[in-house]
Amino acid sequence: MQEETIIVLGAGESGVGAAILAQKQGYKVFVSDAGVIAADYKNILEKYSINYETGEHKKLYQYTPVMVVKSPGIPEKNETVIFFSKKNIPVISEIEFAGKFSSAKMICISGSNGKTTTTLLTYHLLKTAGYNVGLAGNVGKSLAWQVAEEAYDYYVIELSSFQLDGMFDFKSDVAILLNITPDHLDRYDYKFENYVASKFRITQNQSATDAFIYCADDATMKSYMSAHSFAATMYSISVKNDADVTADENNLHFSIAEKNEIISTSVLTIQGKHNFYNAMAAGSAALLMGLTKTQIEQGFSTFINAEHRLEKVAVIDGVTFINDSKATNVDSVWYALDSMQQPTTWIVGGVDKGNDYSVLESFVNKKVKGIICLGKDNSILEALYGARGKLFFSTNDISAAVAKAKAWSVSGDAVLLSPACASFDLFKNYIDRGNQFKNIVNQIINHNN
Ligand code: ADP
Repeated sequence: MQEETIIVLGAGESGVGAAILAQKQGYKVFVSDAGVIAADYKNILEKYSINYETGEHKKLYQYTPVMVVKSPGIPEKNETVIFFSKKNIPVISEIEFAGKFSSAKMICISGSNGKTTTTLLTYHLLKTAGYNVGLAGNVGKSLAWQVAEEAYDYYVIELSSFQLDGMFDFKSDVAILLNITPDHLDRYDYKFENYVASKFRITQNQSATDAFIYCADDATMKSYMSAHSFAATMYSISVKNDADVTADENNLHFSIAEKNEIISTSVLTIQGKHNFYNAMAAGSAALLMGLTKTQIEQGFSTFINAEHRLEKVAVIDGVTFINDSKATNVDSVWYALDSMQQPTTWIVGGVDKGNDYSVLESFVNKKVKGIICLGKDNSILEALYGARGKLFFSTNDISAAVAKAKAWSVSGDAVLLSPACASFDLFKNYIDRGNQFKNIVNQIINHNN
């Protein structure tokens, strides 16, 4: 039995998982959460007889821990984090902690957009091929919890930059970096280069027997990579260049680890160019893990993505309603508009994170017939799009937004909620925004029946 104490900061999914693993490994554990701990997690801490405090960081200062495991939501600048760091006590992320106690193969996925889709797809490919695989990170159960209580041979892990910031010795067997566009800069002193460096931590500690799958079409990644060297075996993915893995409208071409496979894009259940990237990345990881072309095709053709990502909600009177509430930055909207084939009414707005909408211009000109701004303060969007000669409406009421979109649309049109903004001005989160949109669309159906 070890005498050493581990302090866990934050009692959400990752913190509670870390606490369970620490206890299982024989450490004394104390969990401290400055906020309210959700009832489910409180019950679990009590079931495992793990000591905790809630509503303040106070009792934790009685301990001299060997390590602090920090939940990703708590910033490095938090005063409790600074207190322990100053004492040279390592402050690490839950994934870093879990990695110390697992010898499973780790397939890790990061990027500014597409993490969840690619993680779920990679997991689905391995799972349907019969692999003993766990899903972890920002999606699914925490890695630490699974390492404590399951015995998986593989993990597919979605890593945010916040998780990566607390990772030092952890090694990905396969690292996937999808793209890097400005996001979360408030956590990085408003310096894009800090955020970029954080994302590349996914490759740290890798050697030639490990794989790094990266996007050769991403200018930011290319410029960082030209100035740094990487020990892993590298695989590039691209929709336009010569690369190890490429895509055209009809096929994905994999030339990876001495395998050459061509898989038709027609088997994919997810649409849009961005999903070609996601499928190339997931398919590459699957090939590296030994899946056959047939197994990958089977997985691609049976995959169901998470909600709120270009999710087709319904077709009413020939008008297709699409919920892309998870599109909280301009880059994800770029891919949403790129994939639209019909005249589209675009519902946009919320909490603007300093967006540059200019990259959307040609889509707005060619594909968008009407613009509906949905937010508490629509002034930026009103100034940008209000006098463009297009149908235009500004509101803070999602029901009014959907009603207006419906009124403007004729059979063959689409209504796309793809906000480019965070949701917390009018909604609890992007899920609440997407669910309200879907409910209102479904009410129209019920009303019609
Ligand atoms: P993340 O977990 O990184 O937020 P998601 O898979 O949840 O990524 O998708 C978030 C949003 O980004 C959705 O609107 C989705 O349609 C879009 N998206 C998905 N993959 C990509 C990609 N590779 N590049 C750009 N946008 C993407």
